[in-house]
Amino acid sequence: MKSKTSIKITVESISQKMIAPCGMNCCLCIGYLREKEKCNGCNESDENKPQYCTTCIIKNCEEIKKSDIHFCYTCSKYPCKRLKNLDKRYKTKYEMSMLENLQYIKEKGIESFIEKEKERWKCSVCGYILSVHRKACIYCASEKI
Ligand SMILES: [Zn+2]
Repeated sequence: MKSKTSIKITVESISQKMIAPCGMNCCLCIGYLREKEKCNGCNESDENKPQYCTTCIIKNCEEIKKSDIHFCYTCSKYPCKRLKNLDKRYKTKYEMSMLENLQYIKEKGIESFIEKEKERWKCSVCGYILSVHRKACIYCASEKI
């Protein structure tokens, strides 16, 4: 029987191009960590993107499209209602905050943020990456600490 997760992802996959304008770290998404129809993140093409991402109002934001905005905090409308709603949903459901991520990037820079994320999302038991969308490690099933 083929294992569901034969390719294991480490926190070393976390890089600048995997951080979406909203502050989401796409490496932590189950759409990226799955093997079948793997999504390559918000900054890449729509191929294999989960439907909730292709229709994401932030990804499709006209402000982001028409300018060279890398992160939402550079927008004149920041933080807009839709970003606040997304942040609220993730804080409640997944204990992760886009607004905190963006604040950190704004203050300390993207490199520092990436280093922090590599520590935060590394499974302390097996050493592979944790998914923000799952309560336990998808590789060794250990509870997130
Ligand atoms: Zn693990």
